[in-house]
Amino acid sequence: MRIAETLDVPLRAAAPNLNHKETAFLMDTRQPIAGQVAVVTGAGRGIGAAIARKLAALGATTVLCGRTQTSLDETARAIVDSGGKTEVIPCDVTILHQLEYAAARVDSTFGRLDILVNNAGVGGFKDPLHNLPPEDWDRILNTNLRGVYYAIRAFAPLMIRAYSGHIVNISSLAGKNALPNGAAYAASKWGLNGLTYSVAEELRGHNIRVSVICPGSVETELSPHTGKDPNKMLQPDDVAHVVGMLVTQATQSFASEILLRPTQKP
Ligand code: NAD
Repeated sequence: MRIAETLDVPLRAAAPNLNHKETAFLMDTRQPIAGQVAVVTGAGRGIGAAIARKLAALGATTVLCGRTQTSLDETARAIVDSGGKTEVIPCDVTILHQLEYAAARVDSTFGRLDILVNNAGVGGFKDPLHNLPPEDWDRILNTNLRGVYYAIRAFAPLMIRAYSGHIVNISSLAGKNALPNGAAYAASKWGLNGLTYSVAEELRGHNIRVSVICPGSVETELSPHTGKDPNKMLQPDDVAHVVGMLVTQATQSFASEILLRPTQKP
């Protein structure tokens, strides 16, 4: 009721001739996931921050997970300044008990989880595989693949209990193609795609949708993207828009995989 009243004021100012029912309809279309709770990993910067802002703008209370409190706080501030609702829960996706703690906190605070976006990831694009140090292999695979397994292990039970939910994994076109000097990264994303297709089938019977987005190069700090024109590259908001499309799709269907490319080759 409080939310409706606050939203009603700017809507009425913008469209003074509309009656209450009509403004209520407008409110629903502006905030189609109001009342839902979303978790975004790696939400402190780049694509994760854009996804978190998008889900909050669509009405969800957005829980920001990541390793760095200060950057999570920055994303939280941007959400609150735009009138959204958010909560920060620092955690490292490579550490299972930290994700289990985050899931317990989401459950005790909100009693529900509607959307999980597995976005946290690290790059590694400079060595052929035979020169890649084993610790780099571990860091890449443990974040990009094991981290998603851990997050699903921690958070999926909340969705199974509710017989609803949507998991969106952020993969890459590197999970569809060869990536010289990025074999470990490509392997992590090829693995993530296979994980996603399989988990989608496992959770379908629980009325949970599982999707994967495979973007091309996005202008973020993940990689310098040497030689690419940043004006033509995908932007974090392009990926966030796709997440918004997925989670606002009517619940009887879902897009299981989206390949996202820039209109012009960068
Ligand atoms: P980024 O480096 O700007 O952001 C990655 C975020 O993940 C950071 O906030 C980082 O702190 C967080 N993170 C890393 N390890 C973590 C851990 N162990 N626990 C918690 N958080 C952790 O990169 P980005 O481009 O925004 O990447 C986001 C996702 O998009 C990644 O999965 C990446 O593989 C994928 N992706 C990126 C591109 C691109 O070109 N930038 C293209 C396709 C897919």
